[in-house]
Amino acid sequence: MKMAGFYDESISNGLGWRAVLFVSGCPHNCPGCHNKVAQDYNYGEEFNKQAIIDRVSENSILKGITISGGEPLCKQNIAEVLDFVKDLKKAKPNFNVWCYTGYTMEQLKERNDDITNEMLDNIDVLVDGRFEQEKKNPTLKFRGSENQRILDVHRCMKEQKIVQLAI
Ligand code: SF4
Repeated sequence: MKMAGFYDESISNGLGWRAVLFVSGCPHNCPGCHNKVAQDYNYGEEFNKQAIIDRVSENSILKGITISGGEPLCKQNIAEVLDFVKDLKKAKPNFNVWCYTGYTMEQLKERNDDITNEMLDNIDVLVDGRFEQEKKNPTLKFRGSENQRILDVHRCMKEQKIVQLAI
């Protein structure tokens, strides 16, 4: 997997101080995409899992990590993203994980495959849905268009319904 970018610290990609990983490659091709270069699976530098875990572990200000892209949950990226998140949580057990995806929660649950289910178990907050230009709203926090939702993943799975965070 290639990495389109990495922020050591950010407060605009989720609640609290967070590292942000942008993976490369996305199948959605949304008109008005905020990060078009990251649609290319070969864009950026080789993802080095341990180097990122080391960088994040050294920074005591961080409350969590946000994984964005590109598309972290497409079939080309999801296995490596899951492997990364599991190892990161071993190093930082209380770390909070946000993930941006162009898929909806319903589409991810419909997959019903082991890797997607395990990935969802390891995400705290999912910002779901493709960017829809006609629903763009710059006043929204942590999302670009009104169709996108900020989901409490653990409650969604436990209660078997869509539970959005009140942000
Ligand atoms: S899902 Fe995100 S990265 Fe992919 S095309 Fe849409 S806006 Fe761009």
